[in-house]
Amino acid sequence: MTVTLPMCSVDFMDTSLSPEEKAISDRISELRAQLGDDLLILGHHYQRDSIVMHADFLGDSFMLSQKAAESDAKYIVFCGVHFMAESADILTSDEQIVVLPNMRAGCSMADMATLREVESAWTTLLEQAELNDPLDREDPTAPAGPGEKFLVPVTYMNSSADLKDFVGRHGGIVCTSSNAQGILNWAFERAGPNGAVLFFPDQHLGRNTGNAMGIPLELMPTWTPGIGAMGELKGSRIILWHGFCSVHKRFTPSQIENFRSQHPDGVVVVHPECPIETVSASDANGSTQYIRNFVADLPSGSKIAIGTEINMVARLADEHPDKHIECLDEEICPCSTMYMIHPAYLMDVLERIVDGEIPNQIKVPKEIQEGSLMALERMLSIKK
Ligand code: SF4
Repeated sequence: MTVTLPMCSVDFMDTSLSPEEKAISDRISELRAQLGDDLLILGHHYQRDSIVMHADFLGDSFMLSQKAAESDAKYIVFCGVHFMAESADILTSDEQIVVLPNMRAGCSMADMATLREVESAWTTLLEQAELNDPLDREDPTAPAGPGEKFLVPVTYMNSSADLKDFVGRHGGIVCTSSNAQGILNWAFERAGPNGAVLFFPDQHLGRNTGNAMGIPLELMPTWTPGIGAMGELKGSRIILWHGFCSVHKRFTPSQIENFRSQHPDGVVVVHPECPIETVSASDANGSTQYIRNFVADLPSGSKIAIGTEINMVARLADEHPDKHIECLDEEICPCSTMYMIHPAYLMDVLERIVDGEIPNQIKVPKEIQEGSLMALERMLSIKK
């Protein structure tokens, strides 16, 4: 096994714990035991090993949202970022308490689309694309009738709860990287053959998914707040918000070329948040769960370069010592906000819960619960 470690100053492979880290880890285990079935800890694939080792479930945002929805635990501690904890709160009962170990753990991509920006763009887009608002009909989610053309909003899971509420109220839906094609098919049925989807905040997931569905690039203009449309809105099929993931946009076709020059028989798998040039140059692309399955299915001795967050790549390399696994970008850093969930923060919130406090609760305001729940439940009701 070869793991190409990134040139950053943090401890990615923190499986060997220092005495201080071991003490924290032991205390977390004690607190978990004390809380028993009252506690559910969810861990995203991009979390460090010293967090993941304490998670009841490890998964992507789709899988973890399902686990939150199915759980009866009183306290759900979400080791991920803010929008994930919000979705967990929306999908759980009022009696359940969702806790984010570090309130500063946000997502820079999610922050690239605010409700104010989307609301302001919405009216302009309807006018310029000559489309109708699904909100103006009796059932905003009914399939479009003959001659009807709507603009249907689709938001990536990586967005704030108020945007999910906007989407829910306007007859739209949430998607993740593991179900984006199925969700877009659902949305096109509602938009009509001459309608369009407004996809936010990640332009790359939208463009890569549309491209895989055979939609020409010229029918997928980009919208940037304050600047406007890049491309023709009228007759377009997917209007892409300008957002991107600062981790995945770093993967490039030249890194793939470089890997292939060293490993002519190697394979490259990347996340669809990467730019389209990178996705097109790779051998396969898909969600974090897809990447995990893809790597597991390759034969022993395979040489694999992966274009996603380094904690997950390093963990896959550990899990498959019979394969050569490396990160596509040897200088990549972890997702800086995911990395804000340090074990000391996890220990701290558990201590406070045991002491009867409710620390770092993520509570989505009542007035935006209904719309965001509709948008999430529509997604959960659709098979991938
Ligand atoms: S990896 Fe990218 S999309 Fe995921 S939480 Fe980090 S910044 Fe957001």
